[in-house]
Amino acid sequence: MINSGSSSVKYQLIDLDGPTRLVAGTIGRIGEPGSEFHDHEAALERVGEEVAPHAGELTAVGHRVVHGGATFTGPALITDDVVKQIEEAAPLAPLHNPSNLAGIEVMRRLHPDLPQVAVFDTAFHSTITPAARTYAIDREIAERFGVRRYGFHGTSTAYVSRVAAELVGKPETANVIVLHLGNGASATAVSEGRCVDTSMGMTPLEGLVMGTRSGDLDPGVIFHLIRGGMTPDEVEAMLVHRAGLYGLCGDNDMRTVLDRVAAGDEDAVLAYDVYCHRLRKYIGAYIAVLGRVDVVAFTGGVGENSAPVRRKVLSGLAQMGIRLDPTRNSSVRGARLVSADDSSVAVAVVPTDEELEIAVETADILARTNCE
Ligand code: ADP
Repeated sequence: MINSGSSSVKYQLIDLDGPTRLVAGTIGRIGEPGSEFHDHEAALERVGEEVAPHAGELTAVGHRVVHGGATFTGPALITDDVVKQIEEAAPLAPLHNPSNLAGIEVMRRLHPDLPQVAVFDTAFHSTITPAARTYAIDREIAERFGVRRYGFHGTSTAYVSRVAAELVGKPETANVIVLHLGNGASATAVSEGRCVDTSMGMTPLEGLVMGTRSGDLDPGVIFHLIRGGMTPDEVEAMLVHRAGLYGLCGDNDMRTVLDRVAAGDEDAVLAYDVYCHRLRKYIGAYIAVLGRVDVVAFTGGVGENSAPVRRKVLSGLAQMGIRLDPTRNSSVRGARLVSADDSSVAVAVVPTDEELEIAVETADILARTNCE
């Protein structure tokens, strides 16, 4: 499994009979001055050396790709054509797709005999309804520029919604709200294994308040700032890198924000309140979208580790059938239910495992291709 980012490559070698992680690592600072890895080729050659002791057991390489555009509704066996289509989706994810592609190109060159598979962050969301994916703008313009909701975090959400559905004993039929709260953050409504709505949009900027991204915002704000003298690039950089928790209080790490809240810091209190208010709003919205909810599942660094965030976000939702059990909520364990016994909607904490999901989806597509 290769996750090739702009300045880092994460890799894992997973034996799915287990599953067992045989090799795992991250190579950082690619292309930075003084780094021994001047490009992705150098980094992936090192990955090749790390997995060399297992070379005989390698069956395939799964690549994380952020944006699959409107084309990819599931993982794809990589061919020249698939590479071209990923390139075509690059304008929708200019910060991510080119480095994902760099990883693919180098691995294809280094291992031409191994099947390689692209697993897209957007693919799980390809089932969202036209009502949920369509922005209410001029249809011809939307079509021409590819403007629609695509959604992200799909690999994580697919994995977490499946584990949460199993935790409530309804592996096929559960309706699940997944809250992926990491540096990026998204909420997704999943009905019987299929995504029906998600908070990230054409780009990963929409929706929840994130570490450094604003999430939902009146588009009028952007024009107001541009007319006030900021350039479009400056506005974008502000909304992507200097907004969210960071924009509100100067810290994007939730642990620091919570420490400051405990010390009574007013900026941190406001940032925390805005973050939790937005989340609560989306939970209410997705209860309405799904009609019936079996389980709300928290994942990502914040969702998995922060009992105070889960408590604050869900407080006052007893009317909607959501009650936390304070002791279960504070306990530190793996995938588990943290709701009270009399909660009609279960609450789950599920550590995400995107790497395993990529390996599973890679093996699935190969098995299907071999059957055809
Ligand atoms: P990424 O989206 O980059 O994969 P993670 O899912 O690891 O990131 O999430 C990172 C976030 O998780 C950071 O904001 C960090 O503060 C937060 N986090 C990690 N541990 C805790 C904790 N114990 N309490 C609150 N937040 C935490």
